[in-house]
Amino acid sequence: MGLLVDCYGSQDTVNRLDHRDPLVFDTHELGRRPGSMRKVSRTLEAPEGLGIIDVIAVPEKSPIELELRLESVVEGVLVTGTAETHVEGECVRCLEPVDFDVDVDFQELYYYPESDERHRARTAGTEDLDEDSEEETYRLEGDFFDLQPVLRDAVVLALPLQPVCQEDCLGLCSECGARLSDDPAHHHDAADPRWAALQGLSAAPGDEGDGIKTSDTREGLAENQEK
Ligand SMILES: [Zn+2]
Ligand SMILES: [Zn+2]
Repeated sequence: MGLLVDCYGSQDTVNRLDHRDPLVFDTHELGRRPGSMRKVSRTLEAPEGLGIIDVIAVPEKSPIELELRLESVVEGVLVTGTAETHVEGECVRCLEPVDFDVDVDFQELYYYPESDERHRARTAGTEDLDEDSEEETYRLEGDFFDLQPVLRDAVVLALPLQPVCQEDCLGLCSECGARLSDDPAHHHDAADPRWAALQGLSAAPGDEGDGIKTSDTREGLAENQEK
């Protein structure tokens, strides 16, 4: 048993899912009767790395409240749900901590193990063959399904790629690193004695001073000459 695509719910695949995993659900009660429905509420601890790594994510083990609706349909079990949780990260502009509640919706059809091939055979040859075959399909393993990949995708989609502490965050001062939203009037005077001292240095013979400050230096010199 190697490839995932070979799993059609044979005995060896039934044991692949950890049934104690809180993100694994049992659909046994639906009894494979199309039209039967069941609601499940579950609060669980977040798995590791739920979110956008190093940007914003649900802290591991923090609570996630799940509300699921499991519906038996002809090809499998349609899972519709919401997850409420809390994410933490940092502002991409000023690096202040950012945290907020997220409420995500998702819906996914988990095919019965043996129905997948038939489904593919039916839809193959109609249109967008390639797209269809690349699209991820999920399958039940026995009566069980793993919500984890679906929840992961839903959470990632709900998160900002570039979180900010506030929409108009001004970021950090490029010269001293001060947080500008705390002090919108913040600026550096060319006449600031500390800069004047630096200007003196960079104006030294050969001018091998800090290249980045070149324009500031010129302005500073001009001002000095006017005086
Ligand atoms: Zn910020
Ligand atoms: Zn500054």
